[in-house]
Amino acid sequence: MIIEPKIRGFICTTAHPVGCATNVQRQIDHVVVKGPIPSERRRVLVLGCSTGYGLASRIVTTFGSDADTIGVSFEKPPAENKTASAGWYNNRAFEQRAKAAGRVAITVEGDAFSDAIKAEAIEAIRGSVGQIDLIVYSVASPVRTDPKDGVTYRSAIKPYGAAVTSKTLNTGTGEVSEISVEPASEEEMASTVKVMGGEDWELWIKALSEAGVLADGFQSLNYTYLGSELTWPIYHKGTLGMAKADLDRAAAAIRAAHGEHAAHVVALKAVVTQASSAIPVVPLYGTLLIKVEDEMGLGEGPIQQIDRLFRAKLQGDIALDDAARIRVDDWELSETMQAELKKRWAELNTENLSLLADLPKYRQEFLKLFGFGIGGVDYSADVDPREV
Ligand code: NAD
Repeated sequence: MIIEPKIRGFICTTAHPVGCATNVQRQIDHVVVKGPIPSERRRVLVLGCSTGYGLASRIVTTFGSDADTIGVSFEKPPAENKTASAGWYNNRAFEQRAKAAGRVAITVEGDAFSDAIKAEAIEAIRGSVGQIDLIVYSVASPVRTDPKDGVTYRSAIKPYGAAVTSKTLNTGTGEVSEISVEPASEEEMASTVKVMGGEDWELWIKALSEAGVLADGFQSLNYTYLGSELTWPIYHKGTLGMAKADLDRAAAAIRAAHGEHAAHVVALKAVVTQASSAIPVVPLYGTLLIKVEDEMGLGEGPIQQIDRLFRAKLQGDIALDDAARIRVDDWELSETMQAELKKRWAELNTENLSLLADLPKYRQEFLKLFGFGIGGVDYSADVDPREV
C-alpha cells in the first residue's frame, strides 16, 4: 500500500516503516559521528523506549557507550492493511541495527504499569544481561491501571486552583487564539499524580531489587519538564507539574533505600513528541522556541538533548540543582532565550506567527515522528506495512 499521513487532531494514525527506520538511523548517525561516550553503565533498561526521549536514550547508550538494552513500550503491531504505530517500527529498526552492531537489544511490548510486564522484563534481564546498571524511566501515558487494586486512573492536563486563559495555536490552521482552561478538581489532580507521578518508578525499582537484577551502584533517571514561565500556568503549576513534583519525592525515597545516585530526576527541554503535542499551549510555545533556538544556533531535538545528557552531564561529578535534579534544560531556560521568547509571546498573533515563530518546522518535526517528510524516502513506493 501507499502510506500517507492521516492526522486526527494531535495524532497521526498512520506511520511509515521506511521513514521510521530512516529516522532511527539518522539518530544513530548523530551519536556515532560525535564519537564514543565513556560509561561503566552498559546494561540498560529503558522504560518507554520506542519514541521521543526514551528512544533517544536507548540509541545514545547503545551506540555511544556500547550498552546492551532491554526496552519496554506499548505499541501497536501492523495488520494486513493497517500500519503499526511509529514506535513499533522504531523498535524493529533499532533492534536490527543494535544487533548488527553486536549488542543485546530485547524489547518487551506491553503495559509497563502492570505486574505481568515487570515480570516479563525481569525474565528478559535474567536470560540476557543478568543485571541492570542503569534504568531510564521515560513512559508518558494518559492512563494507568494500578496493579494493586485494578483501578484505572486518567490524567487531566489542567491548571490548579483557578482557570487559566492563555494564547494557544491551532497547528492545523495556524490560528492563534485565546483558550480558557478550567481548573482541575481534587480528584483529577490526584489521578494525574497517580498516572504521571513517581509511584510506578518506585514499583519498578522494588520489583527489580526483589528479583536481584539490580547491579551494585545502579543508577536510575526519570525525565521531567519544568519549563518556561510562559507555560507554567498550564504545566508546571498545573496537574502535570504536581505529578512531576511527585518524581522528586520518589527520587528521594529511592535514594534513601539504594544510595545517593540510585535516582535522579532529569529536567529536559521542550521538544516535539507525541506526548507534548497533546498539551494545550505547549505547541504554540514550541513553534516559538524552535525559531528562537535555531536563530541562536542552539536548536536541539530529543537525540541532541539526550546525547548532551550522557556526553556532558553524566560524566565525573554530576552537577545537581537544589532539588537534586540534573539540568539539561539550561539553554532553553537561559535568561537570553527566555527574554526573547517572552518578548515575542506578548506580540504574537495569527498575522505575525510566520515572522516570530516557525510553524512549518514544527509541523515537519511532528510528521517526522511518524516517519513522514524525511529526505531520501520514496513515499510513492508500494510498501507492505508488515514488512520491516
Ligand atoms: P513519547 O510520547 O514520545 O514516548 C512515550 C513512551 O512511553 C513511548 O515509548 C510509549 O510506547 C511509552 N508508553 C506509553 N504508555 C505506556 C505503557 N502503559 N507501558 C509501556 N510503555 C508506555 O513521550 P516523550 O515526550 O518522549 O516523554 C517521555 C518523558 O519525557 C515523559 O516523562 C515526559 O514528561 C518527559 N519530557 C518530555 C518533554 C517534551 O517536550 N516532550 C520535555 C521534558 C520532559
